[in-house]
Amino acid sequence: MKISHFEVFVLGDGPEIDPDKGGVEPLACIRVHTDEGVIGLSEVFRVPPGVVLATVGGPETHFGRLLLGQTITHPERLWQHVWDSLIHTNRRGWEIIILGALDVAIWDIYGQMLNQPVWQLLGGIQRGPFQTPVGAEIQITPYCTLVSDTWGGEPMFTQQIKRADQLAELGYRAFKVEPMMSTPADVVELARRFRNTLGDSLTLMVDVGYLFNDVPTAARVCCELEQFNLFFFETPFPVDVPDAYAKLAAKTSIPLAMGEHGVTRWEFLDMLDRGQVTVVQPYMTTCGGLTEAKRIVELALPRGAQVCPGNWSTQILGAASVHLAAYSPITPFIEFAPAEVFDSPLRSELQNAGFPVHDGVISVPERPGIGYELPQEIIERFRIR
Ligand SMILES: [Mg+2]
Repeated sequence: MKISHFEVFVLGDGPEIDPDKGGVEPLACIRVHTDEGVIGLSEVFRVPPGVVLATVGGPETHFGRLLLGQTITHPERLWQHVWDSLIHTNRRGWEIIILGALDVAIWDIYGQMLNQPVWQLLGGIQRGPFQTPVGAEIQITPYCTLVSDTWGGEPMFTQQIKRADQLAELGYRAFKVEPMMSTPADVVELARRFRNTLGDSLTLMVDVGYLFNDVPTAARVCCELEQFNLFFFETPFPVDVPDAYAKLAAKTSIPLAMGEHGVTRWEFLDMLDRGQVTVVQPYMTTCGGLTEAKRIVELALPRGAQVCPGNWSTQILGAASVHLAAYSPITPFIEFAPAEVFDSPLRSELQNAGFPVHDGVISVPERPGIGYELPQEIIERFRIR
């Protein structure tokens, strides 16, 4: 079976729906076709669609030149073939994110070719009976990321807590509040409101979106947050300063998390070793694909860290996170942008087409490949290019 051609299309909610309020920004999707009619699907988050259209196409394009005509074997071989050919380019940024999306689509094809779900081919379920409660089934737990239309103060508290409340009613069990662009006092207050309103039994994470530059301020905030039993505290500092993460990690009992825009295992190695973070958050496409995500799991495991895949994109990407989580022994949660509380018709449709969440968990998928089937009517309705 050989890669015969690529198909790229751009989906979006349209200009009237704000991506910062939960809408889906123009999103390039890729279908990798084979000469035997098997098709792999992926999406490319946070790469301008024009870049994807220019580099993923016929044999004259950057990725066409590297992959068209290649035989489908283990995805790692194709990944390595592309990576080696990039030795004189930047090996970071958009180039790796697009490689990551192609890698996910190739895993999708490889699974269909072998008639196995991708998690099985990643290594099978690796959580053993001694590390699983007696009688427990292996399931995947999404955590809901909550944003608000405005940041700071009462409107932010009210809207995010209301959304958490609605989602908890629907059975979701884990939540991440996002006090972005807020004062230290507001960061603490949002966590307090969550615990006061929703109680102590649900899992809570806090993401401040690179809010601080100095360790003392972040340390004072963490000291106050410790009383709220946080699962992790995400991106207190810009990603360029892993040493600041390490200094904060030494001062707080709250696990620190980073990595949403990280590309390649080498950047994650820096977060784990220099940054001393104990939760890394690769996107299954952005980091370089499932091939690279598996390597990140293999780096995090001996360091005692967890891998909680990030995903503020759609459930096309989320489907790949589910496969990583089914395999990985260190992935208690995957990120999930819940369509139920955001005004985004496209997000809703793509979630409805994906793996269902029942009672707050996703069952291990059994279909061959990734198993996400994108309905043609969604493409027709939301295609913008
Ligand atoms: Mg974040």
